[in-house]
Amino acid sequence: MDTIDEMNKTDRADEIDQLKSDLLNTMSHELRGPLTSIKGYTTTLLRFDKRLRREEQREFLEAIRDATDTLSAIVDHLLEMAQFEAGTIQLSFAPVDFYHLVQEAIDTAERSRHYTLATGARPNFFTFHLQVRDEHGLPAQPEFLPLVWGDQRRLREALDTILDNALKFSPDGGDILVTLRPTSVLLPEPSENHHNGSSLHSSSVEQPVLEISIQDQGIGIASDHLLRIFDRFQRVDTRLTREVNGLGLGLTLCKHIVALHHGRLWTESQPGKGSTFFIQLPLVPLASATTIDL
Ligand code: ADP
Repeated sequence: MDTIDEMNKTDRADEIDQLKSDLLNTMSHELRGPLTSIKGYTTTLLRFDKRLRREEQREFLEAIRDATDTLSAIVDHLLEMAQFEAGTIQLSFAPVDFYHLVQEAIDTAERSRHYTLATGARPNFFTFHLQVRDEHGLPAQPEFLPLVWGDQRRLREALDTILDNALKFSPDGGDILVTLRPTSVLLPEPSENHHNGSSLHSSSVEQPVLEISIQDQGIGIASDHLLRIFDRFQRVDTRLTREVNGLGLGLTLCKHIVALHHGRLWTESQPGKGSTFFIQLPLVPLASATTIDL
């Protein structure tokens, strides 16, 4: 027994060491860029302020502002992940009109910097499509969609992350197809401890869900990475991933958000052809929302 405990402790210590080294690698890589910009632009402004034109000064100040925005986004993501892992995030559940939510997320993605300048040099062109299907996979009207029982702000955050990745990892642009369809699946039974983000539970019940799929025509993901990308700080090592910023935390946060909704999140992908991310979320209960303990 002692030996097993000792082994567990050693495994845990190895896991923590690995986590620390992943954190250090990611942090040093991701912090260096914005810190170098801030240092470089402030030094130039201080040294040459008299000789710089007004527009140049403004350009430098804007670059400093962008770099600090990047740094605060990094800190926000790290804090958020710590809160999810500690189980201290409280969701506020209400009926969510997912069609509307996706429309807003697409509008934001279209305006984002990746839309016109995804990976630095090449301007990329994306076409977004939003479609609704019925249970049989046939085209349907948005009014036909049932409401999801969820935390609108958190679900939007998950959508934004997946759409942003679709843009970031599609260097040649292309179509981004979001499909919404009601279906029915076996889901983990509610009222267990879901804070660990795992979707493996002892008992399951058949539940009606809304399935959201987000398909891109990007670089795709090799099969041995399909599960790993949902773990913290995990990024697939490609030339493109090295070019685009990222902490490898976005999908980890999505996994936590979906797990707290008792839903499922997974991806299917063909390297070189593109990826599809799937989310399944329980619907608003037919009886009064107050009678269900999620
Ligand atoms: P980040 O985007 O900050 O790297 P994520 O957790 O959101 O972190 O994603 C983890 C990794 O999964 C990415 O670095 C990338 O390698 C891979 N990935 C995510 N979405 C896609 C996608 N749509 N196409 C190809 N690879 C993807």
